[in-house]
Amino acid sequence: MPDDYIYTVDHIVRDSDMSICCRCPHCQDVIGIEGEEFAEVRGEQYKCRCGGWLEVSSTAVAIRRDGELPANKGIPG
Ligand SMILES: [Zn+2]
Repeated sequence: MPDDYIYTVDHIVRDSDMSICCRCPHCQDVIGIEGEEFAEVRGEQYKCRCGGWLEVSSTAVAIRRDGELPANKGIPG
C-alpha cells in the first residue's frame, strides 16, 4: 500500500514513444507522466496507478533516452 507522503522524484527520462517517464517512489514502477517537455513536468505532482503521489523535483535530471532510472527513495529523509 502506498502511503500519503508525496515523494520527490529526481530523475526523468523520455521514452521511445516520446512520452516522459519517471520511477514511482512508492511501487518503483516506471510510469508515464503527462507533459510534453521536461520543463513542463518539473515541479508538478502526479498520482501513480498504485495510488501513491509523487512530485517531480524542480531540478530533476533528465537522463539519456532509454537509460535506466535509478530507484527512488521510498522513505522520506
Ligand atoms: Zn506507484
